[in-house]
Amino acid sequence: MKLYSTNNKKKFVTLEEAVLKGLPDDNGLFMPEMIPTLPASFFKNLKDYSFAEIAFQITKTLFQGAIPEENVQEIIQNAVNFPAPVVELDENKAVLELYHGPSLAFKDFGARFMAQLMSYFNRKNDKELVILVATSGDTGGAVAAGFYKTLGIKVVILYPSGKVSDLQEKQLTTLGYNIHALEIDGSFDDCQALVKQAFLDKKLTSSIRLSSANSINIARLIPQSFYYVEAYKQLKTQKPVAFCIPSGNFGNLTAGLLAQKMGLPVAHFVAATNANDVVPNYLKTGKYEPRPSIPTISNAMDVGAPSNFKRMQDFYGDSWESMKQDIYGYACDDAATREGVKEVFEKYNYEIDPHGAIGYLALKEYLKVFPEHYGIVLETAHPSKFKVDMDEILEKSIDVPARLAVLKDKKKETTEMKADFGAFKNWLLENY
Ligand SMILES: *Cc1c(COP(=O)(O)O)cnc(C)c1O
Repeated sequence: MKLYSTNNKKKFVTLEEAVLKGLPDDNGLFMPEMIPTLPASFFKNLKDYSFAEIAFQITKTLFQGAIPEENVQEIIQNAVNFPAPVVELDENKAVLELYHGPSLAFKDFGARFMAQLMSYFNRKNDKELVILVATSGDTGGAVAAGFYKTLGIKVVILYPSGKVSDLQEKQLTTLGYNIHALEIDGSFDDCQALVKQAFLDKKLTSSIRLSSANSINIARLIPQSFYYVEAYKQLKTQKPVAFCIPSGNFGNLTAGLLAQKMGLPVAHFVAATNANDVVPNYLKTGKYEPRPSIPTISNAMDVGAPSNFKRMQDFYGDSWESMKQDIYGYACDDAATREGVKEVFEKYNYEIDPHGAIGYLALKEYLKVFPEHYGIVLETAHPSKFKVDMDEILEKSIDVPARLAVLKDKKKETTEMKADFGAFKNWLLENY
């Protein structure tokens, strides 16, 4: 498997380099040079495959021998070990639950697969790999859980003190082993600046094998294609299928495009956003105008300059005309989001989180145009992750799964630190 940068399609890197580097030097994004299709027989016999077997077939086909098959097997076994069930709402609507992993959000799929791949690529190195991550909350939880106890890898998570929710903080600070949390007296931007500076520091990069768990790492994108196929497998309908994707950085949607390129029959994708509607606007007008993000109740989607947009364009040869044939746009505000959560509960007795609710509203609009189609909404996180808003909207107390509830009583362990690069650097040198 070879990959190019979206900024230079003539220069190729190996999968190993793309995964360990995360980002090309030219500020583009890594893309597979060739996306092979899976045989028609695979899609015809999909029901005979388990979720892990589907993941294995996709990975093997895409990697084209970059990693021996038995190692791919092992990576998949460790990474794809929780289900992605489809729950039908009515005759043309369903929800794909992507929250059955350790951090209760779809990012678990990407984080676990990336952890396994990095561990594989670092296996012959006697030096451990130290992953630095700055988080404003959600990503850190998935990365911490994904890398937990992964061989040869240590993780340092920087988060802004007092600025993440209690449960989010517990997800970062209670695991131990190879996961260490730094509680920074500053903002998320300060955390990110410290990480960036570390990668530019000669002393640090020469004495520690540093890497990042960047959200745009190709290793996070690939596993997100698995569940589109897994969802398709579970359908009983013969209708053309659309996926509605609550989006922020558009990694999830981009992974859907990858699945489609590999042969999955998808009629359309629906790009659903909150007030941060840069992509729906682009689909409407052909103009891409990134801008600062606006805070909303679906805050994991508060992105004003979606990092995967370049990959989306790349899939369509930079043609707006082609992209808008495949992808429909939808955006709504917080008031509509609240109504969506309420409606899904009242109509279907299903608790959908604010992000999923936007996907549901997008699906309703889409079905007005294509009433004969069938839509699957990606439910990107468990509703209890947004319990305060959920309880208020539904006027009741929603249940919290045991694996989240137990975190409350666990003791947080962190190293407190000023937002000061000198202190951060010394700490790294002393500990790794
Ligand atoms: C990260 C996240 C999103 C946005 O996903 P992208 O791949 O960045 O578009 C949506 N919902 C939830 C709950 C998330 O955590």
